[in-house]
Amino acid sequence: METETRTFEALLYAGAEILKNAGIEEARLDAWLLLEYLTGKNRAWYFAHRDEKASGSLASEYEKLVKKRAAHIPLQYIVHQVFFMGCEFYVDENVLIPRQDTETLVEEALKLLEDVKRPGILDLCTGSGCILLSILAARKDAWGTGTDIMENALKVAEENGRRLSLADRAFWVQSDTFSADIFQEKNGNIPVKYDILISNPPYIPAGEIDGLKEEVRLHEPRTALDGGEDGLDFYREITPSAAGYLKPGGWLLYEIGWNQGRAVSELLRDCGYQKVKVIQDLSGLDRVVLGQHACP
Ligand code: GLN
Repeated sequence: METETRTFEALLYAGAEILKNAGIEEARLDAWLLLEYLTGKNRAWYFAHRDEKASGSLASEYEKLVKKRAAHIPLQYIVHQVFFMGCEFYVDENVLIPRQDTETLVEEALKLLEDVKRPGILDLCTGSGCILLSILAARKDAWGTGTDIMENALKVAEENGRRLSLADRAFWVQSDTFSADIFQEKNGNIPVKYDILISNPPYIPAGEIDGLKEEVRLHEPRTALDGGEDGLDFYREITPSAAGYLKPGGWLLYEIGWNQGRAVSELLRDCGYQKVKVIQDLSGLDRVVLGQHACP
């Protein structure tokens, strides 16, 4: 890309060409979003100033960003921004990029919590913290704990809690599911019981990861994707112990892969959960399994 005295329009055009040639699906849109990120200007500004010359330094900064995207680094990791449930989240390569599909899981949780006062939420494999934090943003009386095995992921979750002014109601614990001390009944510790245990655990069968698109396969954390041989490892690990962290009548909710509804609901039923239900996302695919911890 030539960088000297080019108009914004020429810059955008050249960026889109580079992305298109690199096989980026939404080349023009991404080229625009990178320009918007760099300049902080919106579309209205662009249309009024498209013939204006961009400075050489801006052009070379833009070129750097375009090259990153051309290398199939997900756009969200370059601009460090994702919107989820109407909240803005910071993301980087330490965390899975929050998906719109996961909003189905959060919406189900919010419905179940409608009549619960000051609900406590436990979010396992929290990643960016998007699930726990969007529940806390929607419910001003809620509080919760988010766990992740990766310390660097927890740093991102914590940063998001601060940015969203939810830090005083969100607690972060490094834990491989229930391995942390706070979940053990020993040395006088009695684990806290929550109204909801929610998780979008890694659920992709290990053998399918290499078939995913480059953005996911090479740039999103493998630990956030890999659910073992059949993708169900985390459901098998979490479900039998979950009741120990739920109040009677509390709910266990999972995000699942489109073909895991039957297997995961069977797991819940086998562990004594009631009212087990599979819920579809906006595309009509099975996306959530939930069940209630038996009332006394
Ligand atoms: N809970 C986070 C999300 O839904 C991270 C999930 C994960 O790392 N598997 O985006």
